[in-house]
Amino acid sequence: MHKQTAEININRSMIDLVPEIKETAKGNILDWLPEGKKAAVCFTIDDIHPAKSSDGYEAGGDLEKGSLGLVKWLLDRHPKLKVTLFTTADWRELSPVPTRKFLASIPYVRNKVFLAERWKKGTMQLDRHPEFVNFLNSTERMEIALHGLYHCHKGPIIPVEFQNQSEKEFRKILSEMISIFDKSNIKYVKGICPPGWNAPDNLLNQLIAHDIKFVASARDIFTDISKDAVTNMSGIKGVPLLYPALIKDNRLVHIPSNFQATSKFERATQIIENGGLLSIKAHIIKSAFGHVALDGVDQTYMNYLDVLLTSLEQKYGDDLWWTSMGEITNHITTKN
Ligand SMILES: [Zn+2]
Repeated sequence: MHKQTAEININRSMIDLVPEIKETAKGNILDWLPEGKKAAVCFTIDDIHPAKSSDGYEAGGDLEKGSLGLVKWLLDRHPKLKVTLFTTADWRELSPVPTRKFLASIPYVRNKVFLAERWKKGTMQLDRHPEFVNFLNSTERMEIALHGLYHCHKGPIIPVEFQNQSEKEFRKILSEMISIFDKSNIKYVKGICPPGWNAPDNLLNQLIAHDIKFVASARDIFTDISKDAVTNMSGIKGVPLLYPALIKDNRLVHIPSNFQATSKFERATQIIENGGLLSIKAHIIKSAFGHVALDGVDQTYMNYLDVLLTSLEQKYGDDLWWTSMGEITNHITTKN
């Protein structure tokens, strides 16, 4: 439920990551493509949770009759395509912006309280929605990964769940998130896209402590494409825009997002011509309570991807590795 037009951008303590990352970016030292492949394509969708259209907005809960049905249509048309669905353990966000205007106007207090209504705890908890979990588990080429515990935070920047918490607080949040995933029997890979992109260092330490293998933090759909390009938009800055990279002393794989519904065809071909990973992002909720996502899953976006992917298949054939973030991470960690 991100409002794409109001980009959230908060300070992050990523400075200590930059030197090691630059090295990777400059030299592209990471051996990440399987033999015979010259570039790769992956597709990820954020904000998956069991909300149905009868709840006021749909986030995958209508299964094949809703947005996931449109995704399945695209998968059926492209038998090599895989999708990673970043799924939230117990989604509670109802509004990405403050609705409690009076509280939001009081300095100090506004940072200590939730500034919008939330779903009651447990309403969207994965283990309480077995039909939803079964659908995700049984649909071919749908890979599930992590997208936070509640997808909300106190204070004015609601969807950015990971902000200034201590490592101890992150430990608790991540343990709870993982225990809900495990309890629900959902099949998932050990990777996370932090809600609202932000991945502070305290979080990265705790991801490693919880055996999470990859983080997809940086999204940049503006920086020009070149081999040396680094991310400079949402999430971690200074990591390679076109390639996966190892961060945090090689203990975590970072995978960028560099393409969305509003990106031009040429951006995709430039990424591929540079031997990069075309990493396409979407959001499962097209509109909710007046907020419309520019890259929300709808028939128009899926049609655009259908045309784009068909053209890439014809132009590049077997040179392309059609993969997923989980698979990329597996490949990197066994090879490097
Ligand atoms: Zn999200």
